[in-house]
Amino acid sequence: MKTFAVSVVTPDGPVYDETGAEMVSAKATSGELGILPGHVPLVAPLTINAIRIKKENNTQILAVSGGFIEVRPEKVTILAQAAELANDINVDRAQAAKERAEQRLQKSKQEGVDFARAELALNRAVNRINIAGK
Ligand code: ATP
Repeated sequence: MKTFAVSVVTPDGPVYDETGAEMVSAKATSGELGILPGHVPLVAPLTINAIRIKKENNTQILAVSGGFIEVRPEKVTILAQAAELANDINVDRAQAAKERAEQRLQKSKQEGVDFARAELALNRAVNRINIAGK
């Protein structure tokens, strides 16, 4: 079967870097992307969501906090500010981040609270909680 390489890279370094992928699914801002070998080249912005990488009958799931996906003939690269393998997610930390963000959103009508920023933090935390342990 034809396969391709996949890298997930953050400012802290690579989170995933392997060959032999059979499929990658990701959620772009324009909708769900299913990448199979031979997919047309593209660059697309991602939502805060899951990335699924299928390789040898096993699917690895990562939480990705936005960023971009670049599809080239032999390689898929995901560049994101933050990304974690499901097993590396600290659920307690994500739960604490979720509660902090919810409190900020409750106070959002008061001055000085950045609603959009709190909403993004909430989305990151909920995404991590959903993906942890998958
Ligand atoms: P927090 O408020 O807990 O820092 P955050 O959403 O603001 O959450 P980010 O700025 O997205 O955190 O990420 C900062 C770094 O911490 C990144 O390297 C990210 O992978 C890592 N990280 C954040 N939350 C978790 C988590 N729950 N489990 C594991 N790693 C995490």
